Amino acid sequence: MDKRRAIVTGGTRGIGKAIAIALKEKGCAVAATYAGNDEAANKFKDETGILVFKWDVGDYDACKGGVAEIEKVQGPTDILVNNAGITRDGLFHKMSPQAWRDVMRADLDSVYNMTAQVFAGMRERGFGRVINITSINGQKGQLGQVNYSAAKAGMIGFTKALALEGAAKGITVNAVAPGYIDTDMVAAVPTPVLEKIVAGIPVGRLGKAEEIARCVAFLADDAAGFVTGSVISANGGQYIPS
Ligand code: NDP
Repeated sequence: MDKRRAIVTGGTRGIGKAIAIALKEKGCAVAATYAGNDEAANKFKDETGILVFKWDVGDYDACKGGVAEIEKVQGPTDILVNNAGITRDGLFHKMSPQAWRDVMRADLDSVYNMTAQVFAGMRERGFGRVINITSINGQKGQLGQVNYSAAKAGMIGFTKALALEGAAKGITVNAVAPGYIDTDMVAAVPTPVLEKIVAGIPVGRLGKAEEIARCVAFLADDAAGFVTGSVISANGGQYIPS
């Protein structure tokens, strides 16, 4: 069989970078997208040989053009990992409409914008893997993150509903819900807050991006066809949903 072809949004840094590398190591052709940090993207490209593409995943037309460009290079998409995301934290009574909209756009609209470009093709070919990177805070809620928790919970609803639509066509749709992972996003959390967070993680440490990538590689596998509509929690025991 030909190589499976994957797109990882936000695939040049942090968790997405580890996912892109894991899929490449699995034998997939991989394209990684990013928003604007050219320096990180070029470093990633030089280190890994993985192709990088820049556009805003919150913009539907940009996703349409960007996916078409990737597919011209590596062919139709078998595996889509919706990983790109941002935070704009603040207590709700101080949350601006801009902070709400920015997060909904980058973290939730993006999932529609990207999946809409590849889902019909997956249906036609009878195979697909859509993997959405949600968050522990979309499962349990988090003070100061009403926007982010809402967007990430929205991704879970999207995952469950689309799984039902894809099931008869060989397409699985799943989510991975990381806890606190040692990336730039978490480095932005003030140290005293982070110390409190780590104290609440039963395994006693932050997670590693590679530990999330392992979950994605499992879900992306051809042999994972019976797992769909699920959310894999990878959070060191910090939150155990029923
Ligand atoms: P990083 O901030 O380290 O990297 C984010 C990546 O997404 C970058 O490649 C960035 O591009 C890209 N990106 C952001 N916004 C856009 C956009 N609008 N269009 C295109 N690309 C974009 O994030 P993490 O690796 O920490 O997080 C990855 C995912 O995992 C996110 O969805 C996050 O919510 C989720 N997550 C992270 C956790 C953590 O502890 N780190 C915990 C739970 C969930 P550029 O480099 O150009 O800025």
